[in-house]
Amino acid sequence: MEDCIFCKIIKGEIPSNKVYEDEEILAFRDINPVAPVHILVIPKKHLNSVLDLNKEDEILVGKIYTIINKIAKEENIDKTGFRVVVNCGEDGGQEVKHLHFHIIGGKKLGTKICE
Ligand code: 5GP
Ligand code: ZN
Repeated sequence: MEDCIFCKIIKGEIPSNKVYEDEEILAFRDINPVAPVHILVIPKKHLNSVLDLNKEDEILVGKIYTIINKIAKEENIDKTGFRVVVNCGEDGGQEVKHLHFHIIGGKKLGTKICE
């Protein structure tokens, strides 16, 4: 989708620090990390948010979680723990309107889910 930052990253028009890529999924380091490990996992297909997911995307979402599992082990945060965050919409604080899964870890995170 034009004017989507993450679609531009997928096309290579904006550089990114990639940690995983296949035909359907890309993972790269967040430009403004909130923890020592902060990686974004995105489908290459443009979906605005969780609200765009349909039945046909169930396999894709399952694959994303398998990749999150693999990345967590590679980044050595599997033993210490981490958080997977998916913001949605205005109140959810979603800034980039291309579905993405944050993997956040490498330090003890706060206990509050929201503030
Ligand atoms: P959101 O608030 O939409 O859930 O998260 C968007 C995330 O994308 C933010 O953590 C922000 O730092 C990250 N981000 C925004 N633009 C870029 C970019 O051009 N490159 C990378 N690597 N991350 C970005
Ligand atoms: Zn996009």
